[in-house]
Amino acid sequence: MTARKYDIVIIGSGLGGLVCGVVMAKEGKKVCVLEKNIQYGGNLQTFSRNKAIFDTGVHYIGSLEKGQNLHRYFEYLGIMKELKLLQMDKDGYDLITFDDDETVYRHAQGFEVFGQSLADQFPEEKEAIEKYVKKLVETCESFPLFKLKFDTNYNPSIMEESVSDVLNSLTTNERLKVVLLGSGFLYGSVKPNTPFAVHALSVGSYIQSAWRCINGGSQITKALVKQLRNHGGEIYKRTEVIRAEVENERLKAVFDQNGNRYEAETFISNIDPKLTLKIIGKQHFKKNYINRIENQTPYISVFSLYIVFKKEAFPYRNHNIYHFRNQENVLAATNYTPAEWPENYMLSFAPSHKQKDSAESMTALTYMHFDEVKEWEATFNTAADENIRSERYQQWKNEKTEQFLRKIEKKYPDIREKILSIDASSPLSYRDYIGVENGSLYGYEKDASNPFRTMLTPQTKIPNLWLTGQSINMHGIVGVTIGAMLTCKYLLDEQEFLAKLTATAP
Ligand SMILES: Cc1cc2nc3c(=O)[nH]c(=O)nc-3n(C[C@H](O)[C@H](O)[C@H](O)COP(=O)(O)OP(=O)(O)OC[C@H]3O[C@@H](n4cnc5c(N)ncnc54)[C@H](O)[C@@H]3O)c2cc1C
Repeated sequence: MTARKYDIVIIGSGLGGLVCGVVMAKEGKKVCVLEKNIQYGGNLQTFSRNKAIFDTGVHYIGSLEKGQNLHRYFEYLGIMKELKLLQMDKDGYDLITFDDDETVYRHAQGFEVFGQSLADQFPEEKEAIEKYVKKLVETCESFPLFKLKFDTNYNPSIMEESVSDVLNSLTTNERLKVVLLGSGFLYGSVKPNTPFAVHALSVGSYIQSAWRCINGGSQITKALVKQLRNHGGEIYKRTEVIRAEVENERLKAVFDQNGNRYEAETFISNIDPKLTLKIIGKQHFKKNYINRIENQTPYISVFSLYIVFKKEAFPYRNHNIYHFRNQENVLAATNYTPAEWPENYMLSFAPSHKQKDSAESMTALTYMHFDEVKEWEATFNTAADENIRSERYQQWKNEKTEQFLRKIEKKYPDIREKILSIDASSPLSYRDYIGVENGSLYGYEKDASNPFRTMLTPQTKIPNLWLTGQSINMHGIVGVTIGAMLTCKYLLDEQEFLAKLTATAP
């Protein structure tokens, strides 16, 4: 057992934890990041099958063009040059399709082009589309950190407008509404009560520019870990924080599963906030804070297929596909009927290394409630071999795989004969690998009818414990990076930090 002392200890090496780690180490702090898994990165983890690399939680990233916000944040972090990226189709990085409509609706890159291309498909809605794009831009710009600013003018009431309020105020064309919302299927904004701002920040960043990570999102992790170490930071895997020592209402140290003690002046938790409370000990928090955290609702989880194609068998598509049974299904996507499952899905492709116009692999993702895997709730597994759970679980997974594949076959009737291998993951995989409640896709839901209850901030009731990650502020790669900057802002001289951030070339 060892006892170590740092300025900052970070629990969890997800994107938020790593970004905070690099920022604070760059600022001269003695930083240590603790990760329970054998791979760093949380949702940025990858795995491989038949030499194809699969992402577990990043299919595309927005705002990475030179001068755009994520590019500037990544430049500041010193990782931009390390990344191998592929820009997705400019005239349609996301395609929205329906079973009951042959039209393929395209989301194009660039706000003007995006509006124009949709207006070509909905000529009678040109004005509504223009207003939507204007609203999208205004909403994104009202978040200071979206523009690399620490304004105090931010108006939190912006979270009170829901996607349905905004879209209903712009148009009565139901098809247009769901086409605008369709890609929200991946980033949790297809519920009527989702704040429009959550939708705007995600879609807005992809409209700016949309990119795939060649060889997976774990390259972001590797680059951040390298920077952390370059700045003198330490990081440990297979190190699960399981308990804490609190003294005089301040967090003094945390302990891992082997009893090693990590003392620090300041702690940042990058893990599920409910788990943070449990580890630190609820007795150290006020009742209303505990209630606020415990009343958060996790996003729905996903069931995913990871398909490796035979050589040069399936064309590479440089876009994602969001497919819905019908337009009613978009806003009701989380209320699927088990008999019809999977009613809607998202497809994302990776190009072959040798033959760029062929797809090496495809990930297919659809919603799934945790209830469907409740039977195996007591099992835990982060080994590559999922068979470990039980034969019955494996059989259930095979049945679901077959059901899902049959749905995809409606779009690509000959896909089955092109498949070399197929694997699947369930909500249990996300619960066990990431430690999120019920395998939540994106942490906790935001709700426009009660934004203050559902928006968690980095501060906690313990003065030297801060939060970061997808459940705080915003989710997704852009949202979590910006959120981590916000967490660091509280720990540094605000103006000096801002000056350094904005010094990155625009
Ligand atoms: C299926 C899926 C697809 C997605 N696709 C995209 C996409 O295309 N584009 C996009 O921008 N975003 C996407 N996201 C979201 C994005 O990946 C996440 O929002 C983001 O990576 C979350 O980062 P985080 O900082 O919250 O950390 P997390 O990823 O939540 O990681 C938390 C880390 O903490 C560790 N941990 C937990 N408990 C402990 C403990 N007790 N001790 C030590 N360590 C612990 C975990 O092992 C994990 O490594 C997707 C997410 C999912 C699930």
